[in-house]
Amino acid sequence: MHRNLITGGAGFLGSHLVDRLMQAGEEVICLDNFYTGRKDNIRHWLGHPNFELIRHDVTEPIRLEVDRIWHLACPASPVHYQFNPIKTAKTSFLGTYNMLGLARRVGARLLLASTSEVYGDPEVHPQPESYRGCVNTIGIRSCYDEGKRIAETLCFDYQRMHGTEIRVMRIFNTYGPRMLPDDGRVVSNFIVQALQGQPLTLYGDGSQTRSFCYVDDLIEGMIRLMNGEHTGPINIGNPGEFTIRQLAERVRDRIQPGLELTTQPLPQDDPLQRQPVIDLARELLGWEPTVSLEEGLEPTIAYFRERVREGR
Ligand code: NAD
Ligand code: UDP
Repeated sequence: MHRNLITGGAGFLGSHLVDRLMQAGEEVICLDNFYTGRKDNIRHWLGHPNFELIRHDVTEPIRLEVDRIWHLACPASPVHYQFNPIKTAKTSFLGTYNMLGLARRVGARLLLASTSEVYGDPEVHPQPESYRGCVNTIGIRSCYDEGKRIAETLCFDYQRMHGTEIRVMRIFNTYGPRMLPDDGRVVSNFIVQALQGQPLTLYGDGSQTRSFCYVDDLIEGMIRLMNGEHTGPINIGNPGEFTIRQLAERVRDRIQPGLELTTQPLPQDDPLQRQPVIDLARELLGWEPTVSLEEGLEPTIAYFRERVREGR
């Protein structure tokens, strides 16, 4: 049994991780500043003797006694991370620095939730971990992309200088229940638009691709990486690649087949294609995704149907 700190634990991925660890009987401290996290995501654990909730911002240091740190705190949707890009860069850099400092002091193992965004707008397709990426250092996505790149760098320097135990996970687009309805990410946008009978908004011509991983698969990969012996970086994602137009059609056809697809300008630096190579995860963690897009959309749509009905 471990004493776990989950930063960003009230968010989409963090709250699913909280559930998994609590169900396994572990002790969990959930730390969040509630920027994009919601108390509703973890409300069912409030009052449980193994669970503690701390409102805190990771850009400030904190002293706690834990032996596992799952460092997820950082807004993940472009809409949210671009709202205050300087804060986003601070969260990635200072937040990771503070959590590594904590890990070093108490001898904890730290897992960093990094991202496929470290590959930028990739010139290599699909993307293996050895690809070094193509990131615009001065664009509107840089606060997030470069923030995660320096966070990875800090992890490896703490490992080299102080022997800190690190795990670095490169997460590809993940979806599922508990994404925010107004999150701005593509799966939640399309589902909420379709449920409200509105046109689905394709940015650009919708020919750009993404590979979508269902949240349960992702969390399983995260836990295997933390428990295993491999530092990473390791890609965790579903190699099933879809154009954004294909995604829109699938979502629409499941909810309201007649709906229109409209186009809006493609945001600056929007990556044209993205697909993980997951050979390392298969070999080193014995992990691969088990949920197809069709299977994962079902519980996700059911979740948003409920949220839209409740008007929140
Ligand atoms: P999310 O926005 O739902 O969750 C992020 C959580 O971190 C929220 O609860 C938010 O309130 C909290 N947070 C943000 N800034 C903070 C700060 N300064 N101090 C304390 N808490 C703070 O996003 P998510 O999809 O759950 O992503 C979780 C992590 O996984 C992020 O680090 C993200 O970069 C990474 N990731 C996610 C995806 C994905 O597709 N979901 C892909 C790649 C990487
Ligand atoms: N996108 C879209 N319509 C939307 C929201 C997003 O066409 O309503 C596109 C976006 O331009 C990008 C892809 O969907 O090409 C994935 O966007 P998201 O913000 O989910 O993730 P990221 O770009 O960070 O991978």
